Amino acid sequence: MRLEELKIIVTGGASGMGAHFAKRLHEAGAEVAVGDVNEEGLAALPEGIHTRRLDVSSEEDCQAFVGWAAEAMGGLNGLINNAGIIRDGLLVKKSRRTGELKKMPLEQLTSVLDVNLVGATLMVREVAGQMIESETKPGVIVNISSIARHGSRGQTNYVAAKAALAANTTTWMRELAPYGIRVGAVAPGMIETPMTEGMKQSARDALVASIPLGRIGTPEDIWQAVKFVCECDYFSGRTIDVDGGGAMG
Ligand code: NAP
Repeated sequence: MRLEELKIIVTGGASGMGAHFAKRLHEAGAEVAVGDVNEEGLAALPEGIHTRRLDVSSEEDCQAFVGWAAEAMGGLNGLINNAGIIRDGLLVKKSRRTGELKKMPLEQLTSVLDVNLVGATLMVREVAGQMIESETKPGVIVNISSIARHGSRGQTNYVAAKAALAANTTTWMRELAPYGIRVGAVAPGMIETPMTEGMKQSARDALVASIPLGRIGTPEDIWQAVKFVCECDYFSGRTIDVDGGGAMG
């Protein structure tokens, strides 16, 4: 599909990569509707981008948002499923100092699954449902997974969500191909965004040293892959790792 033909939702588009995707799409002539819990970020997006508060972990919010977006854009044929959070920690750990056994609280596990997996799944359900009901085709859905999908220490909750999102990209490709909807995923490595800016310098240096291309990625690097998924009419069901050639430990 050509970018200017898109009427596309970007979740989590008030910050970081999502905001970059929304701006690039808008510049290319697409109609864009951004949903996010970050209302300050929504207000800072360029004029002409449709915005509304959206908590993807709320079924009611997802349903209302998709109906609103289709009306605001005069149709709907795309989704960039990008909203996400991290709540890192080891699943279980014995303190060397006190001998105390610490376990990841259930809420730390479920909060990440609720946003990154259940929320993303609800958005695919609602957007695909809308396209099928309105007999809109072709359509495209881009899920933002993560290189963490291959396993990442201290990220049980995040890995579970991002690996499931990549696997279900293939499930949804199979289920939605008959309706003319393609589903692809992009799995970024470490990218410079507000999500990662709090990282300690020593950890950052070690990470950069482990990346064959020698630098942390930018939202523009990931946009290149998102654009490819949107535009390539013979691409569906796969997840593209965009990580500078390096796997995170
Ligand atoms: P970001 O700058 O934190 O942007 C994520 C946006 O999603 C924020 O505006 C955030 O709002 C919003 N959000 C959080 N919970 C939400 C919810 N329940 N409903 C709707 N919006 C919600 O992060 P980013 O780095 O651009 O990440 C974008 C996507 O890429 C995420 O799915 C992330 O997991 C993935 N990713 C990031 C990296 C990386 O290194 N940065 C690597 C691989 C994958 P708040 O700011 O209020 O939380």
